[in-house]
Amino acid sequence: MKAEIIAVGTELLLGQIVNTNAQYLSQELAAIGIDVYFQTVVGDNKERLKEAIRQAQGRADVLVFSGGIGPTQDDLTKDAIAEVLGRELRTDRPAMDKLTEFFADRGVPMTENNKRQALVIDGCTPLPNATGLAVGVAISSDSHHYIVLPGPPSELKPMFAEQAKPWLLHQVLTGEMPIYSRILKFAGIGESALEDKLLDLIDAQTDPTIAPYAKEGEVAIRLSTKAENIQEANGRLTALEVQIQSRLSEHMYASEDVPIEETIVKMMADMGLTVSAAESCTGGMVMQSLTTIPGSAAMLRGGIVCYSNEIKEKLLNVPHDYLEGTDAPGAVSEEVAVVLAEQVRMIADTDFGLSVTGVAGPGYSERKPVGLVYIGIAEKGGKTEVFELRIKGNRDTIRKRSTKTLLYRLWR
Ligand code: ATP
Ligand code: MG
Repeated sequence: MKAEIIAVGTELLLGQIVNTNAQYLSQELAAIGIDVYFQTVVGDNKERLKEAIRQAQGRADVLVFSGGIGPTQDDLTKDAIAEVLGRELRTDRPAMDKLTEFFADRGVPMTENNKRQALVIDGCTPLPNATGLAVGVAISSDSHHYIVLPGPPSELKPMFAEQAKPWLLHQVLTGEMPIYSRILKFAGIGESALEDKLLDLIDAQTDPTIAPYAKEGEVAIRLSTKAENIQEANGRLTALEVQIQSRLSEHMYASEDVPIEETIVKMMADMGLTVSAAESCTGGMVMQSLTTIPGSAAMLRGGIVCYSNEIKEKLLNVPHDYLEGTDAPGAVSEEVAVVLAEQVRMIADTDFGLSVTGVAGPGYSERKPVGLVYIGIAEKGGKTEVFELRIKGNRDTIRKRSTKTLLYRLWR
């Protein structure tokens, strides 16, 4: 099986962008045993593109296209292929629904040329675009296979890996039905407790299969099913997801493989809410995990790492007699977690103030056991909640688990 990659775009010919898509696709195709004999670059010109397609037909079995499926008049890839194959273009319903929703959400009218992004070649398998708007195409015709992908690498890569590659393996290489998976993510629950709640489903599973696993302090379930295409797979996976969600709604925060901080950043941004944090034993880990997520600037005002008692007192107004003295509750206490959360919320003027204070070990502190942690959440115009955690594990585990638990409580 021989392949040719056809990258479309005048920007590539002018040297304004580097053809990283060809590099990615060559590596991916090689990995599944398809030899790439030619990489072609052609500008946004329909006649030259048609010429390139005809030439590739003469020397390759699989033609993989990158770019030129956006909304503008110079996006001509699908038009050119359809003309060469003598097929019509038609509108893909799900892609059009997605476009309609996208523009409705933003309250701007959808122009005619935007509708072009929902066009597919008649008789093809549409490849939904998980990270963009233009739908992709996979089609076999006269013993050639064509895959049409969007130009932006953030769209091309997931579309290739999750859809085009399974399609190629199934339709072209092995005839076996591809496996489609979905990850569900959970917080505030351990792997075994989660398995308990799903025991009957796990015992009875055939297809889709259910595989729980723990991952970096979070728990995930992988649902997998064999299907002809992603639409068929999605129907089955969604039915099972709904069942699982109804049993674990307090814990399931996402139906894709994202950390809880990503869900929080989205949720807070959607609701226009802001957050600040005062962290002792986590030393900024809460802030660090939230700032990793693009878009966190909208919800995250700032934080204070208040490791010493002196900083707790000076910067966050924790009363001296909470911290020192024979009857003092001490830095690792419910009382101090409350003050830290409320003070940082007021100082940063945010909707939520978070706090963490605990004994991360290895040694005792204030004669309190390693793993004792208090996390606080102060809400503007609302109550302040404090949770006592007793975490087993080393310093690293205690700090990570405290961070994740605080984020989980904030999500709830
Ligand atoms: P859009 O909807 O953005 O118009 P498209 O599918 O029509 O997408 P192009 O217009 O060809 O794709 O390219 C859009 C952007 O994608 C380019 O500006 C460039 O940043 C990136 N891109 C396109 N082709 C490649 C390539 N071969 N390698 C790397 N990046 C690319
Ligand atoms: Mg374009």
